[in-house]
Amino acid sequence: MSELVVQGLRKSFGNNVVVNDISFSVQEGEFFVLLGPSGGGKSTTLRLICGLEQPDSGKIVLGNQDITNLTPRQRNLGMVFQDYGLYPNMTVFGNIAYGLETRHVAKNEVDKRVRSAAEMLGLTSHLPRSINDLSGGEQQRVALARCLAKDAELFLFDEPLSNLDPKLRFQARRDILNVHRTKKKPSLYVTHDQSEAFAVGDRIAVIAKGRLQQVGTPDELINFPSNVFMARFIGTPP
Ligand code: ADP
Ligand code: MG
Repeated sequence: MSELVVQGLRKSFGNNVVVNDISFSVQEGEFFVLLGPSGGGKSTTLRLICGLEQPDSGKIVLGNQDITNLTPRQRNLGMVFQDYGLYPNMTVFGNIAYGLETRHVAKNEVDKRVRSAAEMLGLTSHLPRSINDLSGGEQQRVALARCLAKDAELFLFDEPLSNLDPKLRFQARRDILNVHRTKKKPSLYVTHDQSEAFAVGDRIAVIAKGRLQQVGTPDELINFPSNVFMARFIGTPP
């Protein structure tokens, strides 16, 4: 079981509380979306979960383990961000293998996992190429393939479609959902785009001004907005 539980997460920069007492949980196999206006604290929440920021208070539990104080590498997460987070001086193979080689996985096992992930994402012929020679869409598939190959316990996506050509977005979304369904881990997907959130989310948490406004299925958010902000945000007529 690898449920993600986030409890009372809080983070400020100076006097600015950007994540204010956020709690939610994401079940195994669930595709969970953080939705809200720009500047609301979604990316900071994700950065706290992956360990790129430390919370002022609160706790992050993955499966049976409290990961709040672990380094990013110790958390075994798969991350796909806007800027892909790839190593430009390495090949596609090297980038997909990256998390594995540092974990002392045997060489033939690395090879097997990299090839299988590349195959699923249509990257097999690109394996020896340099990252710099790939298009944005291909680079993003490499980031996804890395998540697959390393057998991450949790997938984190931060606005993964926003740097892509509109024509590529549909396929990229499908690739992301395929990876999610293949692994059946909890996935956490950040977007400011309501229609994207409603299209992909099993459940959606709306975050604005650092606070969690509501958590629910798309139907629940549309039919039962929990406060005035939500009613306006969703566009329910008064
Ligand atoms: P979102 O992803 O919802 O657009 P962010 O989490 O990126 O929101 O940002 C929330 C707020 O925190 C913004 O006001 C942003 O300027 C501020 N912020 C984010 N990171 C930092 C940082 N490292 N230092 C200072 N302020 C930050
Ligand atoms: Mg953001």
